[in-house]
Amino acid sequence: MPFDLQSRLAARRAEHLYRQRPLLESPQGAEVLVDGRRLLNFCSNDYLGLANHPEVVRALQQGAAQWGAGGGASHLVIGHSTPHHQVEEALAEFTGRPRALLFSTGYMANLAAVTALVGQGDTVLEDRLNHASLLDAGLLSGARFSRYLHNDAASLASRLEKATGDTLVVTDGVFSMDGDLADLPTLCAEARKRDAWVMVDDAHGFGTLGASGGGVVEHFGLGLEDVPVLVGTLGKAFGTSGAFVAGSEALIETLIQFARPYIYTTSQSPAVACATLKSLELLRDECWRREHLNRLIARFREGAAQIGLNLMDSPTAIQPLLIGESAEAMRFSALLRERGILVGAIRPPTVPAGSARLRVTLSAAHSEAQLERLLEALAACHAQLEASR
Ligand SMILES: *Cc1c(COP(=O)(O)O)cnc(C)c1O
Repeated sequence: MPFDLQSRLAARRAEHLYRQRPLLESPQGAEVLVDGRRLLNFCSNDYLGLANHPEVVRALQQGAAQWGAGGGASHLVIGHSTPHHQVEEALAEFTGRPRALLFSTGYMANLAAVTALVGQGDTVLEDRLNHASLLDAGLLSGARFSRYLHNDAASLASRLEKATGDTLVVTDGVFSMDGDLADLPTLCAEARKRDAWVMVDDAHGFGTLGASGGGVVEHFGLGLEDVPVLVGTLGKAFGTSGAFVAGSEALIETLIQFARPYIYTTSQSPAVACATLKSLELLRDECWRREHLNRLIARFREGAAQIGLNLMDSPTAIQPLLIGESAEAMRFSALLRERGILVGAIRPPTVPAGSARLRVTLSAAHSEAQLERLLEALAACHAQLEASR
């Protein structure tokens, strides 16, 4: 039977992999209203609590009043408005790169950068645990595509030896499901030996890492020569939406000329760009959010270790608790929810088989008391699950 969707869906259910969307009935925040219930939110990527910050919201409103609601056209036609241009200039300055180019989503920024830089005859090498958008971009590019072992410079080096044509090494800056940092100093050194370029997608590092929130490259002190292609997204710590690629003048002009996911799409709302200008200012200048977040991360790791939970090797706001089986992760997540705590269960194929986990994300919007409530609930649910084994 063609298009047998019912049996595909039934199989998905049987494997405990069926996805459902929680309905959010409040703005983002430490406390949210979901499916009619108030819950403490430990699964959002709003790491600095800027998504509903009054000044960011006001900038959006004023932006809409001045520039309207819609982008109206693609950037190359008549959709590239003054706020978009100002965001690009501000992001270039913020990242210390000559130029930056604004995109509507991180998924598109990644598709654009990879497909504009490599094609048939070239090589793209990616960390096995890269974000899906980077893996999709590598496949779509038509370049020879190979994945190296997670964060493994030796595995990368052996693939670099066999690479042909222009070679792009692509990695997450902070791995989105594990929370660990790419070992960029070592990976970049390997790439430079072979004249390969490094592209870093730092969706989770911008705003949270580095003294001024400049992400993993600021954390490691890496410049344009080390990381020629730097991607950031605006929907996480920035609290708005969109993404950017930062790099040389020639890189940005190449994307404008050749990147189909840039050319054939409408620009984002200029009002969103106005909001991003404000959130960039708060993210860069108000370092107390990063400091508070770091204290929460340290306290969470200490508390979770005391409970005997299986922490992963993460210094960031992404603090996964490894569970193993999908059904078990779902049960744990459901028990937490009964206690008023929202933590997402992440299952294959998002993570490798047998490594289902609870993905706890911390935010500067959380208070210390809210973090203690999470730890108490984790201890209680953990004990309950152990007792029922
Ligand atoms: C979220 C994310 C993206 C996608 O960004 P969007 O703006 O949400 O499309 C890309 N890369 C990584 C590593 C991400 O975590």
